[in-house]
Amino acid sequence: MRTNEQNRPRIGVLAIQGDFDAHAAALREAGADPALVRKPEQLDNIDGLIIPGGESTTFLKFLERDGFLGALQSFVTKKPTFGTCAGCILLAKEVLNPPQPSLAVLDATVERNAYGRQIDSSIEMSATKLPGGPLELVYIRAPRIVKTGPGVAVLAERDGFPVLVEEGHILAATFHPELSADRRVHRRFVDLVRENISRRS
Ligand code: GLN
Repeated sequence: MRTNEQNRPRIGVLAIQGDFDAHAAALREAGADPALVRKPEQLDNIDGLIIPGGESTTFLKFLERDGFLGALQSFVTKKPTFGTCAGCILLAKEVLNPPQPSLAVLDATVERNAYGRQIDSSIEMSATKLPGGPLELVYIRAPRIVKTGPGVAVLAERDGFPVLVEEGHILAATFHPELSADRRVHRRFVDLVRENISRRS
């Protein structure tokens, strides 16, 4: 139990690559205390983790080199983790285009760079299952979730494919919520972390 008096859980942002600062700012606005995580031992002091966008292959290279992968693997099986874009690729059980290893905690198949060069980056307003009306979704060389298992809840879709999914303590988005002003997705994750803390205490 690590929340302070204001009930702000301590949530890490994996800060070895990608847009981790924007996630840290978004977490602060969403009611959490962010911590930039650069070393495996820092995982012991946080209640949840965001794996940001970037390049999933670069993440894997860094994580393997620093012996970080084992510690992260055991963290994501137990504690709330939110993967955005490359982070979503790292959480999925199966990765295509091309196949690559992953942490395999989200029962989903994800195809990398699935939208081709013409529309590889875009901003759309979409209906979601989050309360509060349409949400701005920013896509940057986004992957596509092509298959999900029965335990995965789909919270938003694009062209019939899931773009925001939740499975137990795992949340994943193929877009970049940290680049929009709307904090509903980060708030959803902070709530997930709070629930997990109260279940453990
Ligand atoms: N194209 C990247 C990958 O495959 C993901 C892009 C992103 O995170 N914005 O890892």
